[in-house]
Amino acid sequence: MRKSVLLCCCVVLAAGILLAQKTHVPKIDPQRLHDTVKYLSSDELEGRGTGQKGGDAAANWIAEQFKSHGLKPAGANGSYFQDVPMVGVRALPTTTFTFVPASGTPVELKNLDDYVTSNETQTESADVDAPIVFVGYGITSPENKWDDYKGYDLRGKVALLFVSEPESNDPNFFKGKALTYNGRWTYKFEETARRGAVGTLIIHRTDLASYPWEVVRNSWGGERSYLRLEGTPKLQAASWIQLEVARKLVAMGGLNLDNLYKQAQSRDFKPIELPVRLKAHVVSSIRPFASRNVLAMVEGSDTDHRRAEAVLYTAHYDHFGIDPARAKGDQIYHGAVDNGTGCGILLELARVWAGTKPAPPRSILFAAVTGEEQGLLGSDYLGKHLDQLPVQPILDLNYDALAPLGIPEEVEVSGAERTTFYSEVEKTAKEFGLAIKPDAHPEAGHYYRSDHFSLGRVGIPAFSISEGLKFKGHDLAWGEAQSKDYVENHYHKPADAFVESWDFTGDAKLAEFGYALGQAAATRSGEIKWLPGDEFEKAQMKLTSMDIDGAALFAGHPALLPVHVEPIAYPPLARQARLTGATQIKVFVAEDGSVERTDTITGHPLLLQALVDAVREWKFQPGDPREFILRCEFVVSGINTDDSRASTILVEPLYLRVAVHPGFIYETQSVARVSDNENGGGKGRKFRGP
Ligand SMILES: [Zn+2]
Repeated sequence: MRKSVLLCCCVVLAAGILLAQKTHVPKIDPQRLHDTVKYLSSDELEGRGTGQKGGDAAANWIAEQFKSHGLKPAGANGSYFQDVPMVGVRALPTTTFTFVPASGTPVELKNLDDYVTSNETQTESADVDAPIVFVGYGITSPENKWDDYKGYDLRGKVALLFVSEPESNDPNFFKGKALTYNGRWTYKFEETARRGAVGTLIIHRTDLASYPWEVVRNSWGGERSYLRLEGTPKLQAASWIQLEVARKLVAMGGLNLDNLYKQAQSRDFKPIELPVRLKAHVVSSIRPFASRNVLAMVEGSDTDHRRAEAVLYTAHYDHFGIDPARAKGDQIYHGAVDNGTGCGILLELARVWAGTKPAPPRSILFAAVTGEEQGLLGSDYLGKHLDQLPVQPILDLNYDALAPLGIPEEVEVSGAERTTFYSEVEKTAKEFGLAIKPDAHPEAGHYYRSDHFSLGRVGIPAFSISEGLKFKGHDLAWGEAQSKDYVENHYHKPADAFVESWDFTGDAKLAEFGYALGQAAATRSGEIKWLPGDEFEKAQMKLTSMDIDGAALFAGHPALLPVHVEPIAYPPLARQARLTGATQIKVFVAEDGSVERTDTITGHPLLLQALVDAVREWKFQPGDPREFILRCEFVVSGINTDDSRASTILVEPLYLRVAVHPGFIYETQSVARVSDNENGGGKGRKFRGP
């Protein structure tokens, strides 16, 4: 027994020496973290406001740091920047809101005290005169068999609804106490706008929102920034109203808000049109501007397809900027913790990754994103324009507000447990002596409130790394007190300022932890996936494969009624090598409807494998054993200059055509040759594709 333990030690030691000889990894430096946070939160950068001088200066400075650490630019036209077109919208005091009942006296509301509103359609003036309809929570969620609308036509109307989602203790129903995206206010505005509403009134309840009216008022009272309109439906009056105002409103219609709340808990709930109209005149100042994400990368060493994939690190650099309306000496929102600390970590990771020899097989991508405090705008834009990136992110690790309080003994990685990467996270946490702290307040929906969410919602496994509450040398109560003090006295206030005595060794530790996770992700052979049934699983499938309309494919073949059809992924290697062609297989269906076996007829083995892998999972209606021949053609389309992802699938009876754009290819000699031959593209041209 003893002997074998000794032997193990020797092997580990030998491996360690071998590793030390072969690889070089610089250490994360707490002093550099200190310096970065101090500079970014200094008066000079004026609180790094989105669309303000200080924010732009911060972006330039971060790009310079990337450059000095030897990272490649990963933005537009060989630069470190991705332009994020935005519009600042401020509701002016001449805005009016009036409830007009069918009979009785109209009630005029007080801006900021009773309600806040913003014109998402980005026009200077908007007039709303429309009936108000109570739509419960305003949620449609097939996974939860929930639909508050029941076919109700919301076009031209004003939706009244509760923030959050139906009460639940059942983990299979709206994830129990935890908040799903359906409960977030952003979802409410998106969904009602999609349904054609002109305005929406979210009823604020402190317990449901998990923050008081003051927070709503502060974040909606001033200018709000939006991404410039890209054709998505928007509201003319995206609004919140105070609980007591909502009470009065429904009472004008002879109803009781507490009763409505009870009704909203039921699957049978149907929209209730109130005999009250909202008459609103929304006057806004409109300020178009461009803000920037800062992007840099370390190229992977794999000569194969893995270099086209990347581990992405994100941290937002923006904060609330400078507010001249405040008393002198208190005008700058320094944002030292939020998110000077995340930027410090991001830059240290960039430096260390650039110095890592050899580079891992996959590339490492860094994004310092803008507009987080305005509603995750920079990361939202990044997630929706993955085709602008030189590499495809396979995992996002985000850092947002890590108070430098000393060495943490816990780490929060909420969301990681929903991915196939979690065992790696658990293993790494153990190695770092970090206990994984479960989300203390899942009902607050923190997952949906930082930048990783923008990547998660488009299908990329993503989560934030942050410290828990237990620190070395302190008890839990100390950590809780620190956290409480931060939330009450510093969070989103000018008082989130730099403190010279801060101890950055803990932030360095969590940066190293993120480095280790990145190393694992960048070298592993398999994919990282959202777990089956996760709310982002579908998005990931969309990202990596094509949805197939099974009913259309088997139309005219009643014996082959499909129950479940798996999408077909274009194999990354085939996409990268621009491997195309037709494949044919014979499929044998068993009595229970499952695919018993497949015989390949023609096609390239790599493409056939992709087809067979998908088809083996298909399910048909039970019945007599059946067989059919399926043809599937894989096509890599030419390089398109437009921004659309353009991955298509044609479905005809028993004939599929899977088409994708070329994969992510970073400029290299061999790649330039391919482009010359097939597309007449210039040497060293950078391809963009899904
Ligand atoms: Zn913040």
